[in-house]
Amino acid sequence: MNLGRAPDEYFGLVNPPVGRSTTITYPSLDAYENPAHKYRYGRLGNPISDKFEQAITAIEGGFGAISASSGLSAITAALTGFVKAGDHILVADSVYPPTRFFCNDVLSRFGVEVEYYDPLIGGGIADLIRDNTAVIYMESPGSGTFDVQDVLAIAAAAKARGVITMIDNTWSAGILFKPLAHGVNISIQSATKYIAGHADVSLGVAVADSEESFKTLRKSMEDFGHCAAPDDLYMGLRGLRTITLRLKQSGDNALKVAQWLQGQDGVQKIYHVALEDDAGHEIWKRDYTGANGLLSILLQPASKDAVRTFIESLELFPIGSSWGGYESILQPQYMKKARSAQPWAEEGFLVRLHIGLEDTEDLIEDLSQALKKFGEKR
Ligand SMILES: *Cc1c(COP(=O)(O)O)cnc(C)c1O
Repeated sequence: MNLGRAPDEYFGLVNPPVGRSTTITYPSLDAYENPAHKYRYGRLGNPISDKFEQAITAIEGGFGAISASSGLSAITAALTGFVKAGDHILVADSVYPPTRFFCNDVLSRFGVEVEYYDPLIGGGIADLIRDNTAVIYMESPGSGTFDVQDVLAIAAAAKARGVITMIDNTWSAGILFKPLAHGVNISIQSATKYIAGHADVSLGVAVADSEESFKTLRKSMEDFGHCAAPDDLYMGLRGLRTITLRLKQSGDNALKVAQWLQGQDGVQKIYHVALEDDAGHEIWKRDYTGANGLLSILLQPASKDAVRTFIESLELFPIGSSWGGYESILQPQYMKKARSAQPWAEEGFLVRLHIGLEDTEDLIEDLSQALKKFGEKR
């Protein structure tokens, strides 16, 4: 992927250099007083943020992008830019938990009413839209259980009522799904995941579909002082060079592991969009060009001790948050806290796996021995 480069501007260098400057000097008073002067101050943008934002804008097919220090800061910049006291917003129930905390603990303090909706609601969202609904915030596939939303139907219902739509598009890495082409106004990503791709960078980005929505988004970023570090932006650009290969390998590996896991002793259910019995499978097939490396295992109901034995017996899946790196990792999910519109009723423990670039035979062997120990403890 060759986006976000400009060898002509930099003596032929194939990668744009990192501009590590907060101070930007001006040749004249006229230049200083000209609002269109290209770079003004480090926080407000520099050549490397431009290149990264241009690349993501092209990938997502938008008008313009902002970058931020984390995925969550890109999310909060987008949300705060488009709401005011007295507004109502609709948020998918399977949203990334810190997004839920921000809505509940921050937006509500500023007089915004937050309502969660069933991610599988589709066009039925029309019934929940009120006259003061300002934003519909999607995340698809959702966190933990990967519920695939009918983005097309939700965006159409929103458009009919003049409601802004946003989506957390981190799962697709901007590669597997193009929300703006499906009518969404703002597509947000945690670039910490597949874009950076090596578990070593915190970075966020949000792309707007039009000049109007971009102006609002950009103003919010400036007002809150959001910005990303030049070195991290460089790493984000570097990640883009190999993202399609890494994403494909992780996705192929995860599907193999998911298929193997289905029906194993101790496994109640596997959440993975490419499995034919998955609730979102049909819409995923309609809208997405592939799947990433995530899957979740709903274990059979068991004692906490048995769950602990399963998790701690795994050699190749350390416990950790984040995903989208080169490595496999496991994160326990606490679903009762993560759902409200559709309370979590399953008894088994849910663990999310990210499948990295390792050999799947090794991963399956590891899961097999850990499931055996789980069975012995249950
Ligand atoms: C990790 C994650 C985020 C937050 O990203 P940070 O860069 O860690 O702030 C947001 N949305 C989803 C879906 C994520 O998985």
